[in-house]
Amino acid sequence: MITLKEALSKSKDELDALKVEMQTKAKEGGLNAYIGFETSGEGVPILIKDNIQVKDWSVTSGSAILQGYVAPYSATVIENLKDKGFSAFGRANMDEFAMGSTTESSFYGVTKNPHGTDRVPGGSSGGSAAAVAGGIAIAALGSDTGGSIRQPAAYCGCVGMKPTYGRVSRFGLGAYASSLDQIGPITQNVEDAAILYDAIASHDEKDSTCSTLELASITENLDANRKLTIAVIDNYISEASQDIQDAYAMSVQKLEEAGHTIVHKNMANTKYDIATYYIVATAEATTNLARYDGIRYGNRVEGANLEETFRNTRAQFGDEVKRRIMLGNFVLSAGYYDAYYVKAQKVRHLIKDEFNKIFEEADLILSPVAPTVAPKIGASHDPLEMYKSDMYTIAINLAGLPAISLPVAKDAEGMPIGLQLIGKAFDEQAVFDGALSLEKAVNYTK
Ligand code: GLN
Repeated sequence: MITLKEALSKSKDELDALKVEMQTKAKEGGLNAYIGFETSGEGVPILIKDNIQVKDWSVTSGSAILQGYVAPYSATVIENLKDKGFSAFGRANMDEFAMGSTTESSFYGVTKNPHGTDRVPGGSSGGSAAAVAGGIAIAALGSDTGGSIRQPAAYCGCVGMKPTYGRVSRFGLGAYASSLDQIGPITQNVEDAAILYDAIASHDEKDSTCSTLELASITENLDANRKLTIAVIDNYISEASQDIQDAYAMSVQKLEEAGHTIVHKNMANTKYDIATYYIVATAEATTNLARYDGIRYGNRVEGANLEETFRNTRAQFGDEVKRRIMLGNFVLSAGYYDAYYVKAQKVRHLIKDEFNKIFEEADLILSPVAPTVAPKIGASHDPLEMYKSDMYTIAINLAGLPAISLPVAKDAEGMPIGLQLIGKAFDEQAVFDGALSLEKAVNYTK
């Protein structure tokens, strides 16, 4: 597949032919990465995760409850794309309401990993990553609440970037956990990620959490030769598989050889990351999902009275979504609110402070993205085990930081291994500069 950069110089006819080719290949390939082939306007086609609204397209967040729902307006990111010569093309499969790490909770069935079709592509943006890695999308948008861009990118061997919280508008994104969600690019390489990031980042009056801090073009200032100080968290990597630890050690060495300064650090609060995230995220999710009641939104399943209609309608949620609604209600309920929700908010601050402390001495932090390569389809049946696999990604959302995941190696079975570079809030430039340098140094071959 041509890169995003190359696609920008193609004519309308060439791009139209490419869309036909992508659609044919996607249908024949059996990855189940696309759940629709809608097209909107002209320009370089970008695959859109099924929780981002494109006017007049169906948008379902991978759920039964939103079947038949048509977006009345476009998300700000979609408007931004249009202004920069891109267009929305196709809807990408995802875990229901972006809750999951495997894309197995989708109403449309699991997406397959192009590097091994018995493997999951990761999640929740599994359709976006599988399509880019499988050569059936030039680039895609995903959303990342606790790793849903970076982890599927790592599992599929492509690049995934989560912007600083507030850098990209959430207007028109189906909300999972509003204080954590960010939309970001999934691409074939780091430069494409920078181009797509530049296209979607903006101020937005329609999203009050969108920053008004000045925006500069990352792409124009990309510098792979910039020398950075990169922290490695020594006590943080021992829970990753041996293959991932080896890839990590190799990458640290390559970064050093490339002239970067490596500093060794420890983090004390990482053991609280998963508990904190699953309290904050489920509390916000339960509130955000209350609107799907069959009256205001969604696919109504009529009952004998209003309460039965609510029950029947909400019974359409899948097990994982129901589990999180229950957990979220529990941590917000009187009697448990202080013990869980308020406590989690305090720990969230400690996690943020710990990152800031490291950033007093470092520009970036290098970390694994996931403790293993992509698991087999059907292997992630224990929810708690699945939550634990988010151990490397979720703290970054709790702290609101930017991070990029890129492939650095493969294991013996040819499964990609990704690592992430985490940056200071709003320092996307260092994140992309470092990633470009690491991409060159490891020379990963697809
Ligand atoms: N796997 C995490 C969760 O299930 C992250 C999902 C996401 O980033 N949307 O919550």
